[in-house]
Amino acid sequence: MILEIVKYGHPVLRKKGERIETITPEIKKLIADMFETMEASHGVGLAAQQVGVAKQLTVIDVRGVTDRPSTLEINGKPAEVASIMPLVLINPVVTPAGEPATGGEGCLSFPEIFAEITRPGTVDVSALDAKGKPISFRCGGLLARAVQHETDHLNGLLFIDRMDKKTKAELQPELDDLQAATKKVLAKK
Ligand code: ZN
Repeated sequence: MILEIVKYGHPVLRKKGERIETITPEIKKLIADMFETMEASHGVGLAAQQVGVAKQLTVIDVRGVTDRPSTLEINGKPAEVASIMPLVLINPVVTPAGEPATGGEGCLSFPEIFAEITRPGTVDVSALDAKGKPISFRCGGLLARAVQHETDHLNGLLFIDRMDKKTKAELQPELDDLQAATKKVLAKK
C-alpha cells in the first residue's frame, strides 16, 4: 500500500523515533508499505517519520542511482553494495569513520528543494535488519549519505538542520511556504 508522505511543517518530522524491540506483523507491513511508497516516489531512502510513524525504522535502496557511487565493507572486506539492497535499518547507530564530503541532497518531505550538504563521507553502521538480526557495515559515497540523512529523520533531525547558513537563508522563503502549506492542510483535517 502506498502511504502518504508527510511534508515539512508536520510535527511528526521533529519527533524522535521509538526503538523497535520486536518485529511484529504490523512492523513487517509497515516495512513493505514504506518500500512501495519510496519506489513510487523514486526515492533512495524513506524514514518512518515521513509516513507519520515516529519509530526507529528506515528503508534505503541506492540501486536506482547509477551516477553517484557507493562503497561497502563488511567485516573489513569490500562487498557489493547490491548485496545488502534493499536495506532495512531498525534502531540504527551511525558513527563517522572518514573525512567530511559535500554532495547534493533532496528529501521526499521537501518537494523541489535541493541543497549541498556536508557530512562524514564514510560511516560505520550497526542496526537490526528486517528480521531483527543485528547487522553492521562500513559504507561510503551515496549510501553513507542516505544512511545519515535517514538516521537523522529517526532522531527528528532534517537536512535543513545540516545546511550552511547561506544556503538555508536562500531557501528560507520556499521553506516558509512549504511549512505554511502543510499547516493549512493539517488544520483542515
Ligand atoms: Zn529526508
